[in-house]
Amino acid sequence: MTFSDLGLSSALVKAVEEKGYTKPSPIQEKAIPHILKGKDILASAQTGTGKTAGFTLPVLQYLSETKHPKYRPLRALVLTPTRELAAQVHDNVREYSKYVNIKSTVIFGGVNAKPQIATLKNGVDILVATPGRLLDLHDRKALSFKRVEVLILDEADRMLDMGFVRDINKIIRFMPEKRQNLMFSATFSNDIKKLAAGILRNPVSVETAPQNSTAKKVTHKVYKVDKKRKTEFTIKLIKDNNWTQVLVFTRTKHGANKLTEKLIKAGISAAAIHGNKSQGARTKALRNFKDNTIKILVATDIAARGLDIPLLPHVINFELPNVPEDYVHRIGRTGRAGAAGEAISLVCSEEIEYQNEIEKLLKEKLNSTIVAGFEPTDTAPPKRAATQSKGSFGKKTSNASNQKNKPSKNRPSRKKYSKK
Ligand code: ADP
Ligand code: MG
Repeated sequence: MTFSDLGLSSALVKAVEEKGYTKPSPIQEKAIPHILKGKDILASAQTGTGKTAGFTLPVLQYLSETKHPKYRPLRALVLTPTRELAAQVHDNVREYSKYVNIKSTVIFGGVNAKPQIATLKNGVDILVATPGRLLDLHDRKALSFKRVEVLILDEADRMLDMGFVRDINKIIRFMPEKRQNLMFSATFSNDIKKLAAGILRNPVSVETAPQNSTAKKVTHKVYKVDKKRKTEFTIKLIKDNNWTQVLVFTRTKHGANKLTEKLIKAGISAAAIHGNKSQGARTKALRNFKDNTIKILVATDIAARGLDIPLLPHVINFELPNVPEDYVHRIGRTGRAGAAGEAISLVCSEEIEYQNEIEKLLKEKLNSTIVAGFEPTDTAPPKRAATQSKGSFGKKTSNASNQKNKPSKNRPSRKKYSKK
């Protein structure tokens, strides 16, 4: 199967060939023909499987083959949860559209809005944006959604987690009813299916990986270690094994900063990437990590989500995520091109319940080890952590005291921890 076989024009095929793609990935092979036919789709495939080209190529083909007014109204909108992802998707759009007459741009917050407004004024066919800044510019009449023909939600699961549903629905209300909707996600949770039901029309479901499964060649390792000794343990792991490129996940921005500082103090080059870092700092950290200027990238789930981070032999969960699906996302970063990957989790007594939830989702027990010199001494989880972990999975909260802790939102669990 080639890109031409899928029905893509020679201008687009030429662009992807220049990118070094020789044949479509499985998700591209499955999704592109449906999108070219104008179908709505709900597509799920693991991170790094080429979803971006999967929606960008057929949309570019549609845009370049159909007539449009001279002023170039916005006809295709890609919504993404984070700035990095928006920038990255737009880079791809630009590269893939090199040989077609299509104008694109990207819009996200945290940077000056003026140049964005100026670019929009000149007309763009396809726009990649994060919801917040987009609505802001719409309020300021810098753009209109009235002519949008294709709406793409990339990393829809993360948009849900980040609480963007209301923004998305608001944006959609400004659009014509008749349009094509494409939704991409790394996992197919029930919440995603619910969101999809409200937006998509007679969608074709396209899936390449088994639901919520992790890559096959990844081995999971749990080290039982006390919370207060995790930093020391991480440093030991990296040094003893001479690891040179490791992605480390922490649950909070503060935790990411603290760990990064300690690593640097221990002589290990590292940088943190999270929502409080400036756009420039985040871009630089990712670039330095990719070209091996720094060894360790410490990230929160949201910051890492959707980034084109190379697949790595090792991912360390400094803390377990409290949303079990995030474990699957994190693990999606390990194991490159056929080689085995290792997902390492440092689990303290407070996190046992998270581990149980993850095992339930994976339908697999994680192998636990205790390392000599790091034997855990904390046993009973402190009270606060116990209630927190129950609430965070929101399912078994039937007694009154738990109900009290539950915000009156539909999805208390994710909202609560979403602003990482
Ligand atoms: P996803 O959105 O599924 O996580 P991306 O769209 O970010 O994945 O693609 C991951 C990487 O694979 C990118 O570096 C991209 O350039 C590359 N890629 C995409 N499609 C192909 C292909 N058909 N052949 C080779 N590489 C590809
Ligand atoms: Mg993607």
